Amino acid sequence: MPVTYRLAKDFNVAANIIRAQVAPNQIGTLVVELLGDIDELDAAIEWMRSQDITVSLASREILIDEDVCVHCGLCTGVCPTEALTLEPQTFKLTFTRSRCIVCEQCIPTCPVEAISTNL
Ligand code: SF4
Ligand code: SF4
Repeated sequence: MPVTYRLAKDFNVAANIIRAQVAPNQIGTLVVELLGDIDELDAAIEWMRSQDITVSLASREILIDEDVCVHCGLCTGVCPTEALTLEPQTFKLTFTRSRCIVCEQCIPTCPVEAISTNL
């Protein structure tokens, strides 16, 4: 189903795809930022749920275990919003939560499993 097309056409909601894991005839996962009027956003989410699409709102948060992190910087290379950066003076990892869109791309990159989510 062309979900993003239907969101735009039927609800005037723009879907900015941040991450996609989709394969033919398999269950897929999309991380999207939705932009639109609040009432139309609610209607669009209701419509997606009526189509058997599981919708999770981003109340999920990224957690960094500072006792485990070795500040290797690998996670900063995949972060699309620069929420994860290395402090230039100290080379320590800095996490700016307000920039995080919870795309979870950083989680599998961490060699010591210091990154997780709260849900
Ligand atoms: S979840 Fe995504 S946006 Fe947030 S810190 Fe990790 S890579 Fe960056
Ligand atoms: S990849 Fe893991 S260990 Fe390396 S800086 Fe990021 S959180 Fe720390």
